Amino acid sequence: MVLRTEEESGQTQWILQRIITTRLLEACSLCDRTLPDTPNNNNTFCKFCHKNSASSSSSSSYKRLFRILVSIATDTKVLNVMCFDRAARVLFGCSADDFFHFSKLHPFAAANAAKILEGEMFRMTLSKPKNGNAQNLRAVSVVPLRSGFKPAIESLKEFYGVKAATS
Ligand SMILES: [Zn+2]
Repeated sequence: MVLRTEEESGQTQWILQRIITTRLLEACSLCDRTLPDTPNNNNTFCKFCHKNSASSSSSSSYKRLFRILVSIATDTKVLNVMCFDRAARVLFGCSADDFFHFSKLHPFAAANAAKILEGEMFRMTLSKPKNGNAQNLRAVSVVPLRSGFKPAIESLKEFYGVKAATS
């Protein structure tokens, strides 16, 4: 008989303890491959798509993707888990591009988003990384458990909306 704990089945309830890092990666607008992290990077496509798009219509630019490393906990254990773009959007409630532009206006948005999300409960489906070099489990799906949960961007807009009126 194989024992299946809740965790092995991939679904369990977690408290988000801390957002460790919030990164916005630049990614190919066609295939989502992340682009090399070089300064003044104006590439729209990765080197693979670049070859194939001879016409190279530069109308669209690269897009950004979330990469968020979070510390989550149950009553018995603590894990560091990587949230890729789809999972991170549940937490932030917007695209990484939108958050980037919001952060340009409000430089502390990422830090405040982390504060807002700390202590929230989520049901998360975790999976082992496909890439052997990756160290952290990844959150495949994230579902907020608190009925009044608001994604970070909504709370941030309220927060900065109030601030803007007084300054
Ligand atoms: Zn590409």
